[in-house]
Amino acid sequence: MTVDLRSDTVTKPTAGMLEAMWSAKVGDDVFGEDETVNALEQKAAAMFGMEAAIYCPTGTMTNQIAIKCFTQPLDELIADQTAHVYRYEGGGIAFNSGVSTRLLNGYRGIITAEMISPEINAENIHYPHTSLVVLENTVNKGGGSCYTIEQIKPIAQLCHDRGLKLHLDGARIFNALTHTGDNAVEYGKYFNGVSVCLSKGLGAPVGSVLLADKAIINYARRIRKVLGGGMRQAGFLAAAGIYALDHHVERLKIDHTHAQIMADALLNTSWVTKVVPVETNIILFDTVEPADVVLRKLVENGIKASSTDTHRIRFVTHLDIHPEQVEYVVSELKKL
Ligand SMILES: *Cc1c(COP(=O)(O)O)cnc(C)c1O
Repeated sequence: MTVDLRSDTVTKPTAGMLEAMWSAKVGDDVFGEDETVNALEQKAAAMFGMEAAIYCPTGTMTNQIAIKCFTQPLDELIADQTAHVYRYEGGGIAFNSGVSTRLLNGYRGIITAEMISPEINAENIHYPHTSLVVLENTVNKGGGSCYTIEQIKPIAQLCHDRGLKLHLDGARIFNALTHTGDNAVEYGKYFNGVSVCLSKGLGAPVGSVLLADKAIINYARRIRKVLGGGMRQAGFLAAAGIYALDHHVERLKIDHTHAQIMADALLNTSWVTKVVPVETNIILFDTVEPADVVLRKLVENGIKASSTDTHRIRFVTHLDIHPEQVEYVVSELKKL
């Protein structure tokens, strides 16, 4: 048996999703004429209480477009030091937007208004102008840790009071909502921009959406074009996104249960020194032996995973991990 726990991006489209893609009605989306793309954009915006949306190939692109829309060159943004926008987007903040980044030390990537407030620069020609705060929910490098809406409210209030924009990297926002029980539509009240990945736990092969007000999305269409992301008959891909929103949100709780079962099994082994408490579909754990040694043993037994540090391994559960695979992993972990 092979079990691929490297990432929730490894999923393949289901039969139902392929059927939806195959039968999509399409047109030239650069002309605004792809009705499936338009339907996805409207659907996603409405779910989060936002006015409009733009469909893009990747979450990196939706984040980078948002940062470009919410800043000017010479500005500064504030994010946690684990932030995907900072660590895993190739330095795009500086390259695309000419903006510097102020990093905070949150708890598992979760930052608070109290942490942000003193880091907002005063008006002074020596200082970059602070214009944006970026939150991530769930936090990838935090091991799938979540913000609740109650934690977000004071940050949104601070941003509002100090004239900053607030963007959410919601690559795994539906995992967060599944865990917290918060309502997606509330998010529209607190964020200027929300990026949602359709190709992570939701299981679409490609695609992310950026949600914001109409004026921002109109500008975002310009930036997407400049970045080379204006796609033509993209409705075949957008259809997978619509299908994912309709069929793969509710089931995320299964991925979370699977992650919890694996975490419990890891806690009962002698070769694991620590398991970061599981909130969603990501499991981080520390090993006695170096991570690459453990990864090799795992892969010999059909389990693919990745490391995030010299002695830290990451498992991610997803749509293509079935109960019998979870059982298999648990039995292998005991033997290792
Ligand atoms: C995956 C991910 C993204 C976007 O990644 P793409 O591979 O560009 O779609 C953004 N933020 C977080 C936290 C992610 O995990």
